[in-house]
Amino acid sequence: MRITVLAGGVGGSRFVRGVREECARRWPDSEGGTEASVTVVVNTGDDIWLSGVRLMPDFDSLLYSLAGVNDTERGWGRAGETERVSAELREWGVGWPWFTLGDLDLGTHLARTEWLRTGLTPSQVGERLQRRWPLGVRLIPATDTEVDTYVHVDAADLAAHDAEPPAGAPTRAEMHFQEWWTRYRATVPARAFRQRDIESARPAPGVAEAIADADLVLVAPSNPVVSIGTIVSIPGMREALAATSAPVVGVSPIIGGKVVRGMADACLPAIGVETSAEAVGRHYGSRRDGGLLDAWLVDETDAAAAAALNADGLHAASAPLWMHDLDRSADLAGAAIDLGREAGRTTGRTGD
Ligand code: GDP
Ligand code: CA
Repeated sequence: MRITVLAGGVGGSRFVRGVREECARRWPDSEGGTEASVTVVVNTGDDIWLSGVRLMPDFDSLLYSLAGVNDTERGWGRAGETERVSAELREWGVGWPWFTLGDLDLGTHLARTEWLRTGLTPSQVGERLQRRWPLGVRLIPATDTEVDTYVHVDAADLAAHDAEPPAGAPTRAEMHFQEWWTRYRATVPARAFRQRDIESARPAPGVAEAIADADLVLVAPSNPVVSIGTIVSIPGMREALAATSAPVVGVSPIIGGKVVRGMADACLPAIGVETSAEAVGRHYGSRRDGGLLDAWLVDETDAAAAAALNADGLHAASAPLWMHDLDRSADLAGAAIDLGREAGRTTGRTGD
């Protein structure tokens, strides 16, 4: 069984841990792992150069979480983290004072930056980072091109927000996604999201193959705009998804009209999509009509949305979508795998 997952950071990590667990249950190997092979195509739209180092937040969230070295209380970063270097950088006036980089985390960024400087690509660096821990899945950054996301905001909205507009930037109408997300907590309305240089980007080596050779493609319950939206905007990605013989199953990141964790509801209005499982399902669309999905999984509380989508030709089903713990994440992955089988029978796309 070959499963390829498209994923962002936090929602992506919880989901991929569930996929790994469910695969170990269904297709165990003799060492407590799985015979299934799981490849994760990771969003790179959040990446940024900061304080002299390259950050790849979604990749690192998946890496730390799958390695079991993540901070489960905060929900991001490394367990047992300290912030001495960040405090020192603040004294020097380097970087962003409101964006803390943990010391252990900085170790990762320094290693990555060193390898990038010696000429390795981000996907080659990603491969090196994964050698340290047996993850049981393979992570590939979606692209090797830097496609950092910039957020367009109205200067008036920004002025209204900043009691003291930052020097030199009071009329600015564009900022890096990380500034919008972390400094402004996504409270300045986003008018648009633009990934720099995405027109010239290509899927990283191995990504198109992982989609073409899969028995099942899963779209994680990740941010539809800045995580999944970035991945599928990379030229060649939609074509790869359209061409695969594997069924493509998406899992809703929206439950009962709310994002369950995070601030994805601040992103959806910018692309004119309502914060609901039904609207996101329609936004991804049915593969039959040029969209991404063969099937869409929504929460049990959104069963009515599933019925409406089925009536309009997008195969939808419902299951419990809250990933409170590993068991529930694995059950959710199981429901997505079963839905893929079902969709494969109706569409004839069985991954063979
Ligand atoms: P980020 O890169 O850290 O923003 O994480 P992702 O893009 O992977 O996912 C963020 C989204 O995951 C959130 O906006 C939520 O909608 C979704 N999410 C988080 N936890 C859960 C959960 O338990 N169940 C479901 N269905 N979605 C979740
Ligand atoms: Ca992210």
